[in-house]
Amino acid sequence: MATVSTKSKRSKASGFTLQVDTRTDKMSEAALTCRSLGHAWDRRPLTKPRRLELLTQGLTERVRVCLRCASVRTVVRRLPSYEEVSDSIVYANAHEYLVPKGTGRLARAEADKAMFVREMAELA
Ligand SMILES: [Zn+2]
Repeated sequence: MATVSTKSKRSKASGFTLQVDTRTDKMSEAALTCRSLGHAWDRRPLTKPRRLELLTQGLTERVRVCLRCASVRTVVRRLPSYEEVSDSIVYANAHEYLVPKGTGRLARAEADKAMFVREMAELA
C-alpha cells in the first residue's frame, strides 16, 4: 500500500500544529462530513412503473439518496427471498469524495481532523 502523505498545518489561533491527510485537501465540507459521520440517507421511493418493471424480473430495489452529498445507493433484491443481488453506490461528486486508488482507506477520524483544521483556520 502506498504511503499516505500528510502535511502539517499550523493554526495561528491555537498555536499548535496538526498533521493532515493531504487526500482531504480537495474534499468539500459535505464530503468530509459524510466521510466522518457517514452518509445522511433518505429513501427515494420507486415510481410505480419502475416497481412493476422490477417485479416482472422477480426483483425489487431500495434506493437511498444522501441528503448532504447527493450520492445514491441502490440495493437490488430478489423476490420472494429478499436475497441481495447487488449493492452499488454512485458518488455525486466522486472526484472530491473518493481518495486515489491504492492509497488505502481514509479513516473517519482523519476526515474529522481535516474539518477541525479548516474550522481553526477560520479563527485566524
Ligand atoms: Zn453523503
